[in-house]
Amino acid sequence: MRLEKKVSLSKYTTIRIGGVAEFMSYPKSFEDVRECINISQWEDIPIFVLGRGANTIFGDFCGLIINTKFLNALKVKDVGYGLEVVAQAGVPLSKLVELGLRENLEGIYKLAGFPATVGGAIAMNAGAFGYEISNHLKSVKFLLYDGKIAQEHRENLEFSYRRSPFPEKGIVLEAVFLFPKAGYQTIQEYEIIRLKRKQSQPIQMATAGSTFKNPYPHSAGKLLEEVGMKGYKLGNIAFSEKHANFLINLGKASFEEVVKIINVAKKKVFEEFGIELQEEVKLIESSSPYGWKVCGA
Ligand SMILES: Cc1cc2nc3c(=O)[nH]c(=O)nc-3n(C[C@H](O)[C@H](O)[C@H](O)COP(=O)(O)OP(=O)(O)OC[C@H]3O[C@@H](n4cnc5c(N)ncnc54)[C@H](O)[C@@H]3O)c2cc1C
Repeated sequence: MRLEKKVSLSKYTTIRIGGVAEFMSYPKSFEDVRECINISQWEDIPIFVLGRGANTIFGDFCGLIINTKFLNALKVKDVGYGLEVVAQAGVPLSKLVELGLRENLEGIYKLAGFPATVGGAIAMNAGAFGYEISNHLKSVKFLLYDGKIAQEHRENLEFSYRRSPFPEKGIVLEAVFLFPKAGYQTIQEYEIIRLKRKQSQPIQMATAGSTFKNPYPHSAGKLLEEVGMKGYKLGNIAFSEKHANFLINLGKASFEEVVKIINVAKKKVFEEFGIELQEEVKLIESSSPYGWKVCGA
């Protein structure tokens, strides 16, 4: 398994911000992922599982980053009324979207137009236009932090808005989906969705998508807009003019600038509406109170 030291992280995230990671590994098999847990235990360092980095903003990370890009096997079986799809964690979500469009499958086409891996989408319970990745999920195979492999049916896993049991419960290795064939032409709905996304989101820019979760029943974007955060700039980072909940890296933004602008936005929204915004993006650095870390079991 490839193991790199002192890895500059900005190119591994869509917002292109990042310090340096002590180690990055590229497992090619489930056994390699187990080996990563062993390394983190021997070295007594935290681990972070990285997919496409589309929801992650890094500072320096004094630990091991497990990059899932080579866990990319995909199997498809026709089951008559639909397709059963077995996808490893590093498979790009766009592959499932393409398959869904080609085979006219229910739901999955709604997740078009944003970067993700299958593992990252499951961990985030990624969703759009009323559809979530967990909707047609049948089961998940994952590695527990004690090195054992487990498989759970969807019914035994708790998913909610941008929440799943992962990575806290374990590292997603593989997922089984059952996508029914749609009784309508999904391509037309897909075109509408594509256009809506293009009109309302800065998808061509260096961003990590929604910064904050929507605090039900409010829209985080609307609240941010009302307190004047749309287009608000702090050094090299700004909230987008197109969508107030998207942070944009204007060039060489730093992790510290991100933390600062997030705090300004949270303070303004709290003072105006008494609502505490919660980050959707994962802010990851060695000692950050915002980050999430798994310390080797
Ligand atoms: C332009 C743009 C638009 C977006 N629009 C949407 C949208 O409409 N809806 C939406 O839901 N999101 C959206 N996002 C956010 C992002 O695309 C999703 O959150 C996506 O699911 C992140 O996947 P990833 O592979 O990049 O995860 P990463 O950012 O790499 O990781 C995110 C989290 O998942 C964990 N994780 C990753 N892989 C695994 C694994 N194998 N096992 C366990 N945990 C794992 C990580 O540890 C981390 O906690 C958007 C992002 C961008 C840039």
